[in-house]
Parts: sequence; structure tokens; C-alpha cells
Amino acid sequence: MTRRTFLRTGAGLAFAAGLPGWLSGCASGRVAGSPPWAELAASLQGTLLLPQSPDFRQVAAPWALQYASRLPQAIAMCASEADVRNSVLWSQAYEVPLVARSGGHSYAGYSTTPGLMINVSQMHAVEIDPATGVARLGGGARNRNVYAACRPYGRAVTHGRCKEVGVAGLVLGGGIGFNMRAHGLTCDGLKETRIVLADGRALNCSERENSDLFWACRGAGGGNFGINTGFTFQTFEVGNYTVFELAWNDRLAEVFDALQTMALSAPDTLGMKLSVVARAGAPGLTLSILGQLAGTREQLASLLAPVHAVQRPSKQTVESMAYWDAQEFLSEEGYPEYSHERSRFVPDSLSPAAIATILEELRAWPGTNVAATWKFFLMGGAIDRLAPTQTAFVHRRNTMISSIELEWNAQDPQARVERNQLWLSRFHDRMERYTSSFCYQNFIDPAQRDYLHAYYGENLARLREIKRSYDPKNVFRYPQSIPV
Ligand SMILES: Cc1cc2nc3c(=O)[nH]c(=O)nc-3n(C[C@H](O)[C@H](O)[C@H](O)COP(=O)(O)OP(=O)(O)OC[C@H]3O[C@@H](n4cnc5c(N)ncnc54)[C@H](O)[C@@H]3O)c2cc1C
Repeated sequence: MTRRTFLRTGAGLAFAAGLPGWLSGCASGRVAGSPPWAELAASLQGTLLLPQSPDFRQVAAPWALQYASRLPQAIAMCASEADVRNSVLWSQAYEVPLVARSGGHSYAGYSTTPGLMINVSQMHAVEIDPATGVARLGGGARNRNVYAACRPYGRAVTHGRCKEVGVAGLVLGGGIGFNMRAHGLTCDGLKETRIVLADGRALNCSERENSDLFWACRGAGGGNFGINTGFTFQTFEVGNYTVFELAWNDRLAEVFDALQTMALSAPDTLGMKLSVVARAGAPGLTLSILGQLAGTREQLASLLAPVHAVQRPSKQTVESMAYWDAQEFLSEEGYPEYSHERSRFVPDSLSPAAIATILEELRAWPGTNVAATWKFFLMGGAIDRLAPTQTAFVHRRNTMISSIELEWNAQDPQARVERNQLWLSRFHDRMERYTSSFCYQNFIDPAQRDYLHAYYGENLARLREIKRSYDPKNVFRYPQSIPV
């Protein structure tokens, strides 16, 4: 796509009338040394935000605040697939780097760019067909939109617990959530997606059409092949659930071990996260579990009885309620913060030496103004009904996804943050021998060595072939993207 062909498509011609004041300085065409933003603005049904726009900084900000200074030159707030297409073609015509943005929750700030941010967050409609339970989502829908649309029908998909996270990023990289053991990963419920490619074509991808790209859209991660403008999911019915949050402060190694034993033999109806946290200003470590059981309080009590026999929790909340009320108990908003998360898949159980290492490292945490957490999310169940090569999400057949999260704030001096980063690296490296060299592509980690192996394993070669056929010029790229 050249500048001339962009103009010939007509997409670039219809500007001039009714441009907002902050854009009028460049409304008469290309400003020397800067790309013709007015031409792009005129081609959009949505709006083009430039740095002078009052909303610009807020929309540009990523979830991970350490990357907030990477500002784009402009943000195309797309209202339609045509807007996405025009933005993709315009960027190439004027050699402006592009990036897709949905929820902005990339852990590594990979939906920031020094060029054009193609923001689909206004394409967030979710419609459910009550007869079939099929849900159609715009490419910019967030978990919060899924919650609101599914609740009236008593149906769900496997969603995340942070309401602000974008479904695009979530599903394209796999998607873990408390429903995954009973119903599979988010990407396992995906039936179809539409994607705008670098050459401007918009393709339907499903098992029947462009099935290789559909395979890749279930686990490769966002930002690799094009910009997804819509997702179709098969939802499932949800009834009453028992939700729980329990915490312990004593005998942590024994409690950890007992919880792990319970979790590894639990029914698929259990969704659970275990965390051990060192918090600024708190005297010791706290171990907690959070999750849901598609079952009764009595069934949960029987699962937890062996753990209670080891040590009674210092705090506990257990309640039974309808599914979507339960999600209000479990969910978080997902507001921006300073954070670095490093993951490792666990193929088996964690040995006593692994548990001792986790506790020892957290006790040696250098400390920030916020917290450091080691956690695992229980896997297995429906995730394992597919083979690792059946979708691009290669990490099936694991018992857990573990991660270490380091959080700090703007008042932490740089030297302290650096000391903490060294600690995080050492801890992450030490855990490899107890876990695996595989990491979750949705917990994308700019510090990960050999990341293509870590995210894709044996699926990498096929992903590269697909990349070569759908994005041969490598238009969609970021520091850890799939190479051509
Ligand atoms: C607070 C928090 C909670 C989380 N909880 C969970 C969880 O419960 N389960 C889980 O699996 N993961 C979770 N994650 C990880 C999350 O899935 C990833 O960070 C995901 O990539 C975020 O998607 P996004 O659309 O919000 O982010 P963005 O930053 O907008 O996008 C992420 C990547 O996808 C690309 N992209 C964005 N939109 C599109 C599109 N429409 N088409 C193609 N590419 C696109 C971007 O360019 C970028 O490379 C969480 C992350 C955070 C920060």
C-alpha cells in the first residue's frame, strides 16, 4: 500500500468538513515532516485523537504504568471494521508504525507505540442469541462487557476476573479463568473471529474458513497477524456456585502442601488460585486461596477438611450464590499499576523443596511500597481434552500456571526497583528446575530469555508459517512477536 493507493481507495479523500479545533492545524493536508493526520481522520467514522486532545493521555495510558511514557503520535478510535482497515492501510502508506489496542492490559506495554495506536475499545458491543447461546463480541469488548451481557441469560464463557482486561488479548493468548477446568480456556469456546490483515482484507476465521489462522488465533497472543474486529463464542449455562476466600498465617509449608494435594485431585468444577504474599509493612507472609466451586458449601467443606485438619485458616469467607453474583465477589477492576509478572507452567506437583524455595524467596523479598506474590492457578480438567497442538496454546497437560508478581509504586526510588528486579530474576530462574521452561504468552514478559520457545514450544514452526502467509511483511510486530 502506497500513499497514492491509500488516496485512490477513497478512504483518504473525504476529509475537511467539521474537523475539531485541535485538528484544524493539519486539516489542509500533509504538514511538512509529519504524516497527514487529517487524511486519516477524514477516513474514520470514529475519531482521531492527537496529543492536544483532552482525552489523549488517558486513552494512551497502558495498564502497566512503567510504560506510560511511550506515547503514540495519534490514536485512531475505531468505530467500525472499516476504520480499522483504513488505519492499517494509512499507517503503511505513510510508514507510521502501528499497534492494536483493546483493553491495554499487556503486561509488557506492547499495545503502546511511537506511531499510530489503532484502538478498538469502542467496538465493545456483546450480543447473545438466547436460542443458541452464541455470543457475538466486538473486537474491543472487555470482561466487563461480557459480564453485563451474559448475566441476564444465566450464561458465561471462560472469562478473566479483571473487568478492564480486553477479550481480544485474553482469547488470542489462550485465556485462563475460574471456569477453565470445567469448560476449557477462553480460546476453547471461540467459534469464529474476524481479522483485518496488513493488506486490508478482512477474513472470517473458523474451523471451516482460514482454519490455519483460526488455529493461530487460539493461543498465539494478540498483535501477531492482524487486528481482530469480532469474536463469536459458544456460551454455557451457569447456575449456583460456592465462592471462597481463605487465608493462613501459620504453618505455611504444611498448609501449602495440603492445599496442593486437595487441588490436584479435586473435581473439574473447582476453579482456584493460591497466593503467597509478602506485603509492605506486614509482619510475615500470608497464604490465601480464592475461587469457586460449581457445587454446595458442604462439598467445598469436604474438599477442604484435610487442609483444616493441618491448620485452621486465620480468615475465611465462604458463600453460595448465583454465578454472576459470585463473579462480583471474585472480580477486580484491574486499574493501572506498576507491576512485573513472570510465569512458569508446572507439569506436575511442586515438591517440598519447591515450596521451601518459594517461602524462602518471599521472606528474602527486598521490599517495595506495595507487595510481592507467588501464585498458582489450577489447570487440568477440560483444558486437557485437547492436545497441545490442536490450538496454538501449547501448554495443555500442565497442573498449574505459576507466577511471581512484583508490584511497586511511583514513590519507590529507582535503585529500590532495580534491587527488586534482580530478586525477581533470581527467584524466577530458581523456580525453573521445579517447574518448566514454558511461560504463559498472556503474561508476556519482556525479561524472558528464549521467549519463543517459552510461549509456543512445538507450535512455533507452524506459527511462523502462518505468519509468513498472512503477514509476510511483518507489519504486525512488537519486541516479542512471532517472526516471519
Ligand atoms: C490486571 C490483569 C488481570 C489479568 N487477568 C487475566 C486472567 O484472568 N486470565 C488471563 O488469561 N490473562 C489475564 N491477564 C493477562 C491478559 O490476558 C493479557 O495481558 C492480555 O493480552 C490483555 O489484553 P488486552 O486487550 O487488555 O491488552 P492490550 O494491551 O490492548 O493488547 C494485548 C496485545 O494484543 C494486541 N491486541 C490488542 N487488541 C487486539 C485486537 N483486537 N486484535 C489483535 N491484536 C490485538 C496488542 O497489540 C498487544 O500486543 C491479566 C492482565 C492484567 C494486567
